[in-house]
Amino acid sequence: MLRQYELLEKVRAYDPDADEALINRAYVFSMKAHGSQKRASGDPYYSHPIEVAGILTDLHLDEETIVTAILHDTIEDTVATPEEIERLFGENVARLVDGVTKLSKIEAQSENQRAAENLRKFLLAMSGDIRVLLVKLADRLHNMRTLHFIKSEEKRRRIARETMDIYAPLAERIGMYEFMTEMQTLAFRELEPDAYASIAKRLEQLHRGEGDLIERIGRGLKAHLEANGIEAEVQGREKHPYSIWRKMAERHVSFEQLSDVMAFRAVVGSTEDCYRTLGLIHQRWPMVPGRFKDFISTPKRNGYRSIHTTVIHDEQMRIEIQIRTSDMHATAEQGVAAHWAYKVGVPEEATDAHPWISDLVEILDHAASAEELLEHTRMALYQDRIFAFTPKGELIQLPKGATPVDFAYAVHTDLGDQTVGAKINGRVMPLRTPLENGDQVEILVSKAQHPQPTWLSFVVTGKARAKIRRFVKSKEREETVALGRKIFDEIVQRLPAPLGWEAMAEALRRLHLHEDAELMEAIALKRVSDVAVMEALMPGSTTRDGVKPPPQRRAISIKGLTPGVAFQLAECCHPIPGDRIVGLRREGEGIEVHTIGCDGLADGIDADWVDLAWGDESDGGTARLCVVIRNEPGALATMAGIMGSHGANIVSMEQTARDGSFHTFHLDIEVHDVQHLMRIIAALRATEIVSSAERL
Ligand code: MN
Repeated sequence: MLRQYELLEKVRAYDPDADEALINRAYVFSMKAHGSQKRASGDPYYSHPIEVAGILTDLHLDEETIVTAILHDTIEDTVATPEEIERLFGENVARLVDGVTKLSKIEAQSENQRAAENLRKFLLAMSGDIRVLLVKLADRLHNMRTLHFIKSEEKRRRIARETMDIYAPLAERIGMYEFMTEMQTLAFRELEPDAYASIAKRLEQLHRGEGDLIERIGRGLKAHLEANGIEAEVQGREKHPYSIWRKMAERHVSFEQLSDVMAFRAVVGSTEDCYRTLGLIHQRWPMVPGRFKDFISTPKRNGYRSIHTTVIHDEQMRIEIQIRTSDMHATAEQGVAAHWAYKVGVPEEATDAHPWISDLVEILDHAASAEELLEHTRMALYQDRIFAFTPKGELIQLPKGATPVDFAYAVHTDLGDQTVGAKINGRVMPLRTPLENGDQVEILVSKAQHPQPTWLSFVVTGKARAKIRRFVKSKEREETVALGRKIFDEIVQRLPAPLGWEAMAEALRRLHLHEDAELMEAIALKRVSDVAVMEALMPGSTTRDGVKPPPQRRAISIKGLTPGVAFQLAECCHPIPGDRIVGLRREGEGIEVHTIGCDGLADGIDADWVDLAWGDESDGGTARLCVVIRNEPGALATMAGIMGSHGANIVSMEQTARDGSFHTFHLDIEVHDVQHLMRIIAALRATEIVSSAERL
C-alpha cells in the first residue's frame, strides 16, 4: 500500500514545484471521507484512491490530476459534496472529480454487451477533459489489480467483461498500450482461467526448453544493427497471454502452430534510422508477406507511430519486430498522457505528434468553457458520427445522415424489416428524416411490413442497405418465377399435344437447368425463347407441318432495372428500342414497360414508376401500325414488298375497316428500333397506293 509521503516523493521527482499542501489536504480529506470503509482486500478504502494517484504519477501527470485521483470516489461513495471540493481544491479539481463521477454513473448503466462499443466511444466523446478519462482508466486498472479479492465470481466476471469490452479498448483508443495490456491480461485471467493457465504454462516451458532464446535473438539483432552503424536499444518479450490467445482463436491454430510468440522492439535515434533498420532487418532475414506496416508514414489515429514487420528468423522461427524512435516509444507506451507530461515538463516533440493529439492538447489549453471543450473534443473524434437513443436509453451509434430506418436496423434486423414509422423525440416523423445527435428514436412496427425498395434511396448504413437489398432481391425473384410460370402455361397451350409426365424433367435436362423455378426465371427474363422451351418440352413440336414457328424473341436489354427483374413490353403501346420508356411496377408482377406517351399509363397511378432506358445492345421489337391503302389490285403486295425490302417481318395483319375505296389495316411488324420503323413509315407514305401510315 502506497503511503502518503511515497506518493509525494513520486510527484516531486518529476514536478519539484508541485503544491504539496494541496496533495496533503486531498489525502486527509479522502481518508476522513471514506472513514472506516473497507476494500474487499480488507485494506482501508482510502488506500485505493492513493494507489490510483500512484499509477498516474508513473505517467507524470500534473497535480490537479493527482488530487482528482485521490478524491475520485468521494462524491459517489461518501457524504462529501461538489461544493466542498470546489471550496477546498478549486474549480478545476471540482470539475474533474465531477467528470469522473459522471463517468462512473454512465458505466453503471452498461448492462448490454452489444452497447459496449458505443458506450466506450460515448465515454470518450463525453470525457471532455482527457484527464478525467486518465483518472477513470487508472481507477479501473487498480480495481483489476485487486479483482481477485472480490468473493463473488459473478461480480468478478462482470467487472472483467466490462474491462475487456470497454476500458481496454478505450485505453487503446487513446494510445495507452501499457494500460490496455495489463487490463487485458487481468481480465483474460478471470474470464478464461483455463486458457490463461495453459498459455502461461506453455510460455514457461518455452523458456525452459530454449533457455534465453529471447535474449539471444535480441543480442543478435542489436549486433547486426551495430555492425551496420546503427545504435539501437533492443528489447524482446513474449507476447501477452491474451494476444496469443486471440491469435490462436483468430487463426484457428494451436499454441504449437503459432510461430510468432516473440516480439522485439528496436528503439533508434531518428526516423531515418528507423527505415535503415528496417532495410537491414529485411536484408538479413526474409520478411513474412502481409505483416509489414508503416505507422510512421501513416500514423494511427491516436498518434501511434512505429514500423512493424515480421521476419522468419533462424530455423523457421517467426519474430515480430517494431522499429521506432524514443519519442515515438514514449507516445506508444503512454499515449495521450505522454503529451500531457510533455506539457508539464518537457515540451519537446509535442508539435511533432499526430495532429489528433496535438489538436486535443491545444483544445485542452484554449477552450473557454466545458461545453466548448466537449464540443471540440467530440468533433475531433466523431465528426462523422451521431449517437441516438432507444426508448430504453440504449445508445446507438450511427454515421451522420442516418435515418430511423438505419437506426432500426442497427438495433435489430427484425426491427428494421418491420418498420412502418418512427417517433423522434416523441413526434412521428418521416422515415427519411436524418437523425441528430442525442435524438431519442422509437420505431413503430407492423408484423405485416416488409423492407421497402424506396428505403434504398435514403438509408446510409451498409447494414440497412444490405438487408433491404437482400429482401427486395428474393421478393423480385419470387415475382419473376411467378411471371415465368404464367408465360410457361401459355407456351404449353401452344403445344400440339398434352405434356407427358416426364416432359418437364426431360426439358430441364435438355436446357441444362436444375429445377422448375430456374426455367420459369429464364423464361420471364427472356433468356430462353418460346421455341426453345417448346422444343425442349416436345422435340419437333415447332417444326411440324402446319405449325408456324412463333417469332423468335430477340435480345432486349433495359437500363434502370435491377438485374434479374422480369419485364414485359406492354401490349398497349408496343415499345421498341429508341422509344422513350417508363416502367410500371406492381406488387406481385414484373415490370411493365410502356412508351412514355402511352394512354395505358393512366392506369398506372397505383404502381411504382421506374425510370428506364434501352440497353445499348437492344435490338428488335414489335411495332403496331395503322396503314390505309387504296383498294387496288396489288396494293397489299406492294405494302408487303416495302416491309420485305426493309427487312421487317409482318407478324400479324388485320383488316379493321373498309371504307369505299380505302382499306384500313392494323399490322404488327418486327423492327430493329425506332429509326428502322421511321424509315418504313416514310417509305409507305411515299408510295402512291398508301394514303396514310401511322404508328399506333
Ligand atoms: Mn475508484
